Amino acid sequence: MGCTAGDDWRCDEVRKAVKYDFDLYVIGAGSGGVRASRVASGLGARVAVAESTHLGGTCVNVGCVPKKLFVYGAHFAEDFEDAAAYGWSASAPGFDWDRLRDNKTAEIKRLQGIYRNLLAGAGVTIHEGRARLADPHTVEVNGAAFTAAHILVATGSRPWTPDFPGLEHAIISDDAFYLPRFPRRAVVVGGGYIAVEFAGIFAGLGAQTQLLYRGPLFLRGFDDGVRRFVADELEKKGVALRFNAVVDRIDKAGAERVLTLADGGKVPADLVLCATGRRPNVAGLGLREVGVALADNGAVLVDEEYRSNVPSILAIGDVIDRMQLTPVAIAEGMCVAHNLFGAGPPRRLAYDNVPTAVFCQPHIGTVGLTEAEAQRRLGAIEVYESSFKPMKHTLTGRGEHTFMKIVVEQATDRVVGLHMVGPEAGEIVQGMAVAVNAGATKRQFDATIGIHPTAAEEFVTMREARDGP
Ligand code: FAD
Ligand code: NDP
Repeated sequence: MGCTAGDDWRCDEVRKAVKYDFDLYVIGAGSGGVRASRVASGLGARVAVAESTHLGGTCVNVGCVPKKLFVYGAHFAEDFEDAAAYGWSASAPGFDWDRLRDNKTAEIKRLQGIYRNLLAGAGVTIHEGRARLADPHTVEVNGAAFTAAHILVATGSRPWTPDFPGLEHAIISDDAFYLPRFPRRAVVVGGGYIAVEFAGIFAGLGAQTQLLYRGPLFLRGFDDGVRRFVADELEKKGVALRFNAVVDRIDKAGAERVLTLADGGKVPADLVLCATGRRPNVAGLGLREVGVALADNGAVLVDEEYRSNVPSILAIGDVIDRMQLTPVAIAEGMCVAHNLFGAGPPRRLAYDNVPTAVFCQPHIGTVGLTEAEAQRRLGAIEVYESSFKPMKHTLTGRGEHTFMKIVVEQATDRVVGLHMVGPEAGEIVQGMAVAVNAGATKRQFDATIGIHPTAAEEFVTMREARDGP
């Protein structure tokens, strides 16, 4: 039989002839690595996973989960205020940062234990330590070498910051989860997911908060209507937005930090969070040494089935820098496990219509094309748009508004983009994403009966296309 080692796991002859320690060795027990390990093991493969810090990876330890807990925490300030309009009275609420931080940490520790049990229960061998590649079939961890038919690199990403004087006086998002003291004045540098989410967290928990972004409007890549709307809403919530603001340096005087901007402006703060993107985590892995091709930013270059140019080495998740989202890393991990060890035709992931949410205040939920992308790619489109005060705030008087937009391809009537800014936007758009992904038309949206009274019903009741831009 014409099988070569590492080519085809289902080729029993190869498996018996080549005495690898494992069928699959996964480097990194984060979102993608854990899922790939468990699924592969469930399909009968002998699997090991190496983890250098904490089981669960970024999402569980310093990402989605602790972040969302902080987002919940931050919302209580408004909830206490709003409750008065509904007849509730209570003594003035106080906020205890240490309690929120430590309760969050306890929950993260609990989740780490769950991840350990999940892996062990699935029969996956766990190696705690930093792994590196010795050759295309050998991984070294803690001075020991392990061979595997396939090696999956799932090492995620790490925060990246521009290099300016005084950078050491700023923190990165990993640190924000363990602050010894909550700041009175917080400055967030950046205009992506992490920057807007943490600006909302700091402001909600009571810090005077400023967000500095280098361009004219933050959240590049999101629908322009969403970006403008979120800017207005964040300002209503007390986040001072400073666009076209480039940081030149940070100086420290006692406990105070002073940022100097390129235009000469000075911004004092007690805490500066630099949230300027993340880069693939490949340092010290030995990828280049074993011949794996990397992009300029370090991303492992892979094909549609996540194979690098070295056939026994695959990569998924943030380290391939396609979409840095947990559900994407998980889906990629499942593809790899099925393609290596499952039956049936190769699985491939569609990256169109991946829904996403930004947990700023209020949340953004989005799926499909922005209006500008749709216009560029499809030509004639129709846009349905609505902005309204959520019913809850008819009594509270709070100025918060909700925004919704549907983008429709004129030629086919297909809904190609759907965007929302408002309470629970992530929850609502997750459901809508099924319809958009299934190719639903605007007529089918219109034929769907709404649930009353909800905000979400607006998505099935918008009838008049917007005139002009
Ligand atoms: P990771 O989960 O980062 O796992 C990689 C693992 O590899 C880590 O545990 C690391 O310690 C380990 N590792 C690295 N090098 C080695 C080595 N040499 N040897 C052994 N182990 C190694 N995504 C969402 O979908 N929703 C959100 O709300 C969300 N919020 C986020 C908030 C923040 C603050 C951040 C930073 C990210 C957030 N993300 C969110 C993104 C999400 O966390 C990542 O996309 C996801 O964790 C990527 O999964 P992964 O498996 O590629 O990598
Ligand atoms: P993002 O890529 O989302 O945003 C990075 C921001 O930093 C952008 O505003 C970018 O500006 C700015 N920036 C880049 N370089 C510089 C520079 N040299 N000087 C000043 N500003 C700069 O990265 P994040 O760090 O916010 O998050 C990383 C990823 O993690 C996200 O892309 C997302 O995939 C994931 N994530 C997902 C979340 C979710 O699902 N809710 C939450 C948090 C993170 P510009 O746009 O001009 O390039």
